[in-house]
Amino acid sequence: MADKRAQRLAELIKPLRVKPGSEVNLAKDYDPGYKADFLNKKKDGPDLLRTGIALLADYQARLAAQDTYGVLVCLQALDAGGKDGTIRHVMSGVNPQGVHVSNFKVPSAEELDHDFLWRYARRLPARGDIGIFNRSHYEEVLVVRVHPENLDRQKLPKEAKGKDVWARRYREINDWERYLSDNGFKVVKLLLNLSKEEQRTRFLKRIDLPEKNWKFSSADARERQWWDDYQRAFSEMLSATSTDWAPWYVIPADRKWFARICAAAVIAHTLMEIDPKYPVVSEQARQELLTVKAELEDEAPKDAPADPYAAAHAKTGKAGMEA
Ligand code: AMP
Ligand code: MG
Repeated sequence: MADKRAQRLAELIKPLRVKPGSEVNLAKDYDPGYKADFLNKKKDGPDLLRTGIALLADYQARLAAQDTYGVLVCLQALDAGGKDGTIRHVMSGVNPQGVHVSNFKVPSAEELDHDFLWRYARRLPARGDIGIFNRSHYEEVLVVRVHPENLDRQKLPKEAKGKDVWARRYREINDWERYLSDNGFKVVKLLLNLSKEEQRTRFLKRIDLPEKNWKFSSADARERQWWDDYQRAFSEMLSATSTDWAPWYVIPADRKWFARICAAAVIAHTLMEIDPKYPVVSEQARQELLTVKAELEDEAPKDAPADPYAAAHAKTGKAGMEA
């Protein structure tokens, strides 16, 4: 059953994975309106999302119990791409103790006083945890590239600011992610790929509905002037930084329901590849547990069963199921 579900998820996300070393032209290669032909929103949508969320919850519990691997999910998108909603829906079933979301905004004075990866390194997940970067170190080759005045604010020495700065950042990011991966932290990256027309529609919705007004600023609309520059920066970023150890997935984002299914599927698939297992206690520890069990059973009051849990579960025929 789990294998079949895993296979279905793998099939769904395969076309979204950016092949390491491939040359990407985002506008040409990835359609923001794509949805898998075999899926129907009303019929399959809720079921598949539920499956993805259930798998995530199950695997996250194991990841936490095993406490050996961590997962970093990087979410990138232009404004109104659906990052917040994706996190809300996809993570709705997991134990909040095991997930940490970090939002990255315009860097503070303190952050600008450090190397460009510093603020991201401080938010990395611990072993057993899933860290979600809502915007990530990739802003350093996106907004910073499209608006080079951001680079000026970074106080870099002259020799670190030359023309090759972007190629160098790609290499440094790849190296950093490889280091994380080698040390047990799996990195997976999602670009929510939105069309310009769908962004216009979502901006208008944010203006039309008073309860959405807070989500909109006129600066968001002005940023549309640089749409093509962003598409180019995305294409180069995808070409240079999708690696075997930290792949990019381009998620078609014009249909929110489909984007959420894909995001859940990618994260679930990443966890399945790690395949974390509940720790099994040693024979000696098991014997110690049984000694304590006997002592606790001896403490039973007169009318109580020796082991109320075992007694209750024996009655319902569920004994041993939660062992
Ligand atoms: P939001 O996520 O909509 O709250 O906006 C956060 C803003 O911070 C976006 O406009 C990003 O482009 C901007 N931002 C994020 N990271 C950086 C960075 N490293 N340098 C400059 N601006 C950034
Ligand atoms: Mg914004």
